[in-house]
Amino acid sequence: MNKDANSAPPPALRERIEAVEARITAAAERAGRDPARVKLIAVSKTFGAEQIEPVIGAGQFRFGENRVQESQGKWPGLKARHADIELHLIGPLQSNKARDAALLFDVIHTIDRPKIAAAIAREIEHTGRCPRLLVQVNTGEEEQKAGILPGLADAFIGQCRDEFGLKIEGLMCIPPVDEESSLHFALLNKIAARNGLDELSMGMSADFENAVALGATYVRVGTAIFGARG
Ligand SMILES: *Cc1c(COP(=O)(O)O)cnc(C)c1O
Repeated sequence: MNKDANSAPPPALRERIEAVEARITAAAERAGRDPARVKLIAVSKTFGAEQIEPVIGAGQFRFGENRVQESQGKWPGLKARHADIELHLIGPLQSNKARDAALLFDVIHTIDRPKIAAAIAREIEHTGRCPRLLVQVNTGEEEQKAGILPGLADAFIGQCRDEFGLKIEGLMCIPPVDEESSLHFALLNKIAARNGLDELSMGMSADFENAVALGATYVRVGTAIFGARG
């Protein structure tokens, strides 16, 4: 924890985080779920270390980034200053960045094809570091979007386990912008349930309450905490 009074978080920031947490709790309770099962990831992409520090100062320790290279610029220093940081990769992973990702991230949400599964398995072996892993599903079957297609998800999850020896903990999705996200959250929940997976990474600033209602265990919230990205 940062005990320097000069870097105490501005009240507005602490209030924003508390408001998001209160909305998560209310949504979970409305759905008859245990709010403690829903973990808030503050999405810090595009923000620099000096903007992230006050969020850490406000008590938030779980952060999400979508680019490996950008993260390498700011997180090693932040992690060195704050021992309890949990860093999540929520953006697409290229196999040539698999080692960097395995070394820096605690959770990777974007395992989505055999080549990446193989690369991560290799780097876990090589680095001795074992991030927790989720499979990204392209629930909207969008051509430009990462993620395994829903129809191939069961086989891919099995392949991760059996061929690559990876322990997959859950699933992640990013619904199409112009569609009702609840349909995608429900689909992701169904795929996870039939594969015996416990973690569901879904919901962003605009729709995290719906995601919580449909079983999210990780919500990824950027704008509602940090404000608009530049
Ligand atoms: C940027 C991003 C978010 C956060 O989006 P907001 O609308 O700012 O809350 C969540 N998930 C992923 C994968 C992202 O890239």
